[in-house]
Amino acid sequence: MITVSRNLNLNVRRTKRSATLAINERSAELQSLGKKVYRLGLGQSPFPVPDFVVEELRNNAHQKDYLPVVGLAELREAVSDFHNRRDGLESTADDVMIGPGSKELLFMAQLCYNGELMLPSPSWVSYQPQASLLGLPTTWLPTSVDDGWRLDPKALKAACQSDPTRPRLLILNYPNNPAGTTLSEERLKEIAKVCSEFKILVLSDEIYGEVNHDGQHVSLATFYPEGTIISGGLSKWCGAGGWRLGTFLFPKPLYWLREAMSVVASETYTSVSAPIQYAAISAFTDRPELQEYLRHSRRVLKMVGEVAYGKFKDAGLKLPKPEGGFYLFPDASELAESLSDRGIKDSTTLCEQMLQQSGVAVLPGSDFGRPDSELSFRLATVNFDGAEALRQVARFEGDAWEFVETHCFELWDALDALCGWLKR
Ligand code: PLP
Repeated sequence: MITVSRNLNLNVRRTKRSATLAINERSAELQSLGKKVYRLGLGQSPFPVPDFVVEELRNNAHQKDYLPVVGLAELREAVSDFHNRRDGLESTADDVMIGPGSKELLFMAQLCYNGELMLPSPSWVSYQPQASLLGLPTTWLPTSVDDGWRLDPKALKAACQSDPTRPRLLILNYPNNPAGTTLSEERLKEIAKVCSEFKILVLSDEIYGEVNHDGQHVSLATFYPEGTIISGGLSKWCGAGGWRLGTFLFPKPLYWLREAMSVVASETYTSVSAPIQYAAISAFTDRPELQEYLRHSRRVLKMVGEVAYGKFKDAGLKLPKPEGGFYLFPDASELAESLSDRGIKDSTTLCEQMLQQSGVAVLPGSDFGRPDSELSFRLATVNFDGAEALRQVARFEGDAWEFVETHCFELWDALDALCGWLKR
């Protein structure tokens, strides 16, 4: 918690520092003391930014003017084309807003919205703290490990039925951080039906769409166009988290929210860095090098997910098989008895002891909205040399286990350290 001062805003006082950034700093601290730490806490893409995108940044380093608040016109056009290609939409550049990371856009959307936030549990670490900074009430929607931690349309409906006309904002994320699973067309249709019935505004966080392991991402906007804003950006599929560029795609009926967000943007960050916006045009423009980069990235992530899943199953954990992105969210409840003998009865203690004793840094399920008593945790399987993995996968013909052991050996060792510690 933040140190309490009488002059501190009450909402800020209640909120702690982002869990992912905190674990990263804690891991660095242990490393500086000479401890071996496997950093599976922060979910950052392991892959480098593609060369042709870096080249465009170099070419545009001289761009020095402030750009329009909603973003550079050519970039908005490229983002709109990207969604039309990928999601089969008929959007235009006017529907796009560019922000300094989708995290900031998600925060501004919540700032401008007047209503209740709905989140499946588990959800990405920052949605709920953003709501709590703004004083927005949050309703958690139950999910289960057996259902891959996916949003259940029946649970969504049940949560809306008691007060059907209440304004509601649902943040839905798939492929999912932390679960690693995605949503089928069937499931999306069912969710869309409930959203339409209760006029729920959906922020569909599809930032991992391009790294769906099978390359088959389907947007919720296909089934619920009038109420869906698609959130995306460069961070997860283009290796460019530190470039800070996020995108929102609005349907026309939600232009009121786009207008409100651009007022807030104009009075806060003004516009996203000009060289980054110029360079990003190339990332959103289709070309064979990009397709190849994505094909290789997905293949590496799929193999990594398969191996991590296999090792955790062998260690007695319950978890769904990863389908996209680079996360897994296991539940160690079946080991509760043996962990309890070691004094571990909640997810916070589980992760603290895991870090201290095995050197593996992961995040407790409680940071994602799960009850602390549930022994769940999230790991990001990204501690390997992504550039080398991309080079190797291009000519690799063996199986996933061989690939990960040979080319992602740091991750392989981390998984062994973690599973060995759990089985101890
Ligand atoms: N949404 C999800 C599910 C994420 O995992 C992240 C980053 O970890 C973000 C949004 C924010 O990404 P950025 O602000 O880099 O666009």
